[in-house]
Amino acid sequence: MSETIACCPILIGNEWSVPDTAETSPVYNPSTGEQIAVVPMCDADIVDSVVRNAHAALADWMETPPIERARVLFRYKMLLEDHFEELASMIVREHGKTITEARGDVRRGVEVVEYACGITELLKGECLENIARGIDCQMVRQPIGVCVGICPYNFPALVPMWMYPMAIACGNTFIFKPSEKVPLTGQRLIELLVDAGLPPGVTNVVHGGKACVDALLEHPLVSGVSFVGSSPVAKYIHETASLNGKRVQAAGGAKNFVFVMPDAEVGKAVDGMIDGAFGCAGQRCMAASTAVVVGQAADDFLPPLAAAARAIKVGPADRDSSAGMGALITGAHLDRVTGLIATGVEEGAELLVDGRGVKVEAAPGGFYLAPTIIDRVEDNMSICHEEIFGPVLNVMRFEDLDAAIDIANHQAFGNGACIYTTSGKAAREFSHRIQCGMIGINVGVPAPLAYFPFSGWNYSFFGDLHVQGREAIYFYTRAKVVTSRWFQPGEGDIWHKD
Ligand code: NAD
Repeated sequence: MSETIACCPILIGNEWSVPDTAETSPVYNPSTGEQIAVVPMCDADIVDSVVRNAHAALADWMETPPIERARVLFRYKMLLEDHFEELASMIVREHGKTITEARGDVRRGVEVVEYACGITELLKGECLENIARGIDCQMVRQPIGVCVGICPYNFPALVPMWMYPMAIACGNTFIFKPSEKVPLTGQRLIELLVDAGLPPGVTNVVHGGKACVDALLEHPLVSGVSFVGSSPVAKYIHETASLNGKRVQAAGGAKNFVFVMPDAEVGKAVDGMIDGAFGCAGQRCMAASTAVVVGQAADDFLPPLAAAARAIKVGPADRDSSAGMGALITGAHLDRVTGLIATGVEEGAELLVDGRGVKVEAAPGGFYLAPTIIDRVEDNMSICHEEIFGPVLNVMRFEDLDAAIDIANHQAFGNGACIYTTSGKAAREFSHRIQCGMIGINVGVPAPLAYFPFSGWNYSFFGDLHVQGREAIYFYTRAKVVTSRWFQPGEGDIWHKD
């Protein structure tokens, strides 16, 4: 039976309403292929009224004592816990990942809220007395203004929560533009934030695609832009927002290399690689994209890896709790990923495990691809460099660590890289020389938690200050330095001297 198709509302001044737009975009349940909602594609006029509302709320919110802002976030944290399973189920329904993965998505986001609850400590400035005799200097951090968050589809809870809890804790007002593919979880997250007692206009929601985003980037009352998504769009956002005088942080795509050394513990390396490559059906910016097998590791590691990949049960995460891997986000994305597998084979790589054509009888309309492993990928093949963003693991073979590091280091992306080894020397050599920002040593998905910055480099990040941790505080505030000297009445008034 098909589900009721609702149009997602926008939020202005704590009032939800469905705008009248010329265009809408469909939202699917990827597990079944059924359409479950539509998203209004908002234009510049709607964006203007959202931004003006957020701007009107700014003066009062930035003067609200940080401890009062924190109290809203403490209440929000409790509401998130009360609605934890509901949020996870919403993610399963609109994203297609498994319930375990969806719980992780929510949990990591809640941890950012917990971090933001400490804003009274995090926001403290610096002070030095007597920078010259009788003169003091203090640095305080003030909010930057109206901030915007433009989000991708792959973490419907976590990625938005990288942004708005930190932005509003710092005293900014916020406009959230969810991915048009997964708007429902974000809507629920913000409903709960309003329930926690957030004043009207402090957080707002708008929907849309390029026209909506462009209107946000160009609006004169927007001060800061946070973006997470693919690299070409991240680069565009960074350039356009910068040209319009905004502060901007834009996290992009990835191609993460995971090294397996001949001395690695094979069982642990297989488990880590399987989770890294096929967790969330490979739709993670920290996914293991390429297994870099060094020397003897090819013979020891690849047979059990292939067996473990074949053993993963692919199924509809919304109705089969035994499914180990869910669907891809849309039919179009499934076609793109299977097309890239075919390209790899045409370019001369060898299919070790072929997940195409998998049949999921419980949900024949879903967007499924089973785990796929492509062996003997070479540097001159396009699949070596392009982000696939599906359950597809490339394998590259090298004789030694040096050659492997060289190849990994001339990739454009720079998000994450991992090594499995029992050698401290190899691990140290790898983590010191590899050119990317998040490193795992015997850890498959080294995504930093809320209190460390999510530190992509190169073509994986555009800007200076990353999301999460202290860098988020620096991004969402600007420093003001006050130098002061106080006189006794009449002291030092040379023009009063006779
Ligand atoms: P996407 O770039 O297609 O979309 C991201 C957002 O940008 C969406 O809200 C979308 O509406 C908007 N958008 C799309 N095209 C646009 C355009 N031309 N102009 C203006 N706005 C536009 O990304 P996606 O497919 O939703 O998400 C997957 C990507 O996100 C992958 O590349 C993944 O690696 C990346 N990602 C990166 C991180 C990170 O921390 N580096 C985290 C999660 C996801």
